[in-house]
Amino acid sequence: MKSKILLIYTGGTIGMKQDPDSMALIPFNFTQILDEVPELKKIVHKIDIFSFDPPIDSSEVEVHIWVDIANLIKERYDRYDGFVVLHGTDTMSYSASALSFMFENLSKPVVFTGSQLPIGMLRTDGKENLISSIEIAAAKDSQGRAIVPEVCVYFESQLYRGNRTTKYNAENFRAFRSANYPCLAEAGIHIKYNTPFINYPELNQGEELRVNSVMDTNVAIFKIHPGISEAVTESFLKTKNLRAVILETYGSGNAPTKSWFINLLRDAIERGIIILNVSQCLAGSVDMEAYSTGILLKKIGVISGFDSTTEAAVSKLFFLLGQYNDVQLIKEYLQKNLRGEISIN
Ligand code: ASP
Repeated sequence: MKSKILLIYTGGTIGMKQDPDSMALIPFNFTQILDEVPELKKIVHKIDIFSFDPPIDSSEVEVHIWVDIANLIKERYDRYDGFVVLHGTDTMSYSASALSFMFENLSKPVVFTGSQLPIGMLRTDGKENLISSIEIAAAKDSQGRAIVPEVCVYFESQLYRGNRTTKYNAENFRAFRSANYPCLAEAGIHIKYNTPFINYPELNQGEELRVNSVMDTNVAIFKIHPGISEAVTESFLKTKNLRAVILETYGSGNAPTKSWFINLLRDAIERGIIILNVSQCLAGSVDMEAYSTGILLKKIGVISGFDSTTEAAVSKLFFLLGQYNDVQLIKEYLQKNLRGEISIN
């Protein structure tokens, strides 16, 4: 079955070329991608290209870029069967997580991909990533419905739910990991879809795609470590306009129990700041009932982030703070699985 795909180039290594004089990587005009990847001509699907001008290194990504990507997709939603977003790897997990929360009633694939080596280089990982992402974005079942109607990340033969990913390797072609959720597909000789783990929009079928573009970024990540000082903790929690903190804890959600630390957290919570507990470990879940160090956090009103990645927690908070003012309501939504980002029902 032939599909129509929109390829959105935002920037990143995949669309760069080595400048012969300086040897530095610089973006090339992505609308001329066919010169770099003539293999694309063999793809049966119709592909249109939209390139950000100028393309950006993903370290420069801000909320307005997410809004631009989301609106671009929304405006062209009816014209395409799927979307492939080419994006730098550095913040791809943040962007894929954010888009998963921004979209309401998504029923078509939005596949983020990129590469570790530019697409024009001989040993590039970009060609396979690009071609398989297009195949996945184009894939439909016998009734013409998208096989993966989610915001995903495809990298090095694996398709992941976007809001479950983390970039964990700056060098290896397998740059991403989804430690707490299985792959949605694996590309070998065939692309094998792991359908029991894919979210299908059964209930809201037919409802129009909506973009929640209001996000509040008054969120900060506080990573605890042995020797953390009272002065640093205090000034962090007194940051102007702070509405929520992701407390990156040890193991299954544990933190020091010294009284100054607990008192500072309690004081922040009483001032209406949301403290969300996310583990520093890549795999496993926060369980604030396992150790007395976790129980104490729960008692003072710290909220469990369960098995969320930090990237998903940041963008979920941006999204919820952007939509609601009621702290109690936001805390309730934080405990809910909104887009498959945490393993609870
Ligand atoms: N710095 C680049 C970026 O994130 C790295 C990459 O694309 O892999 O845009």
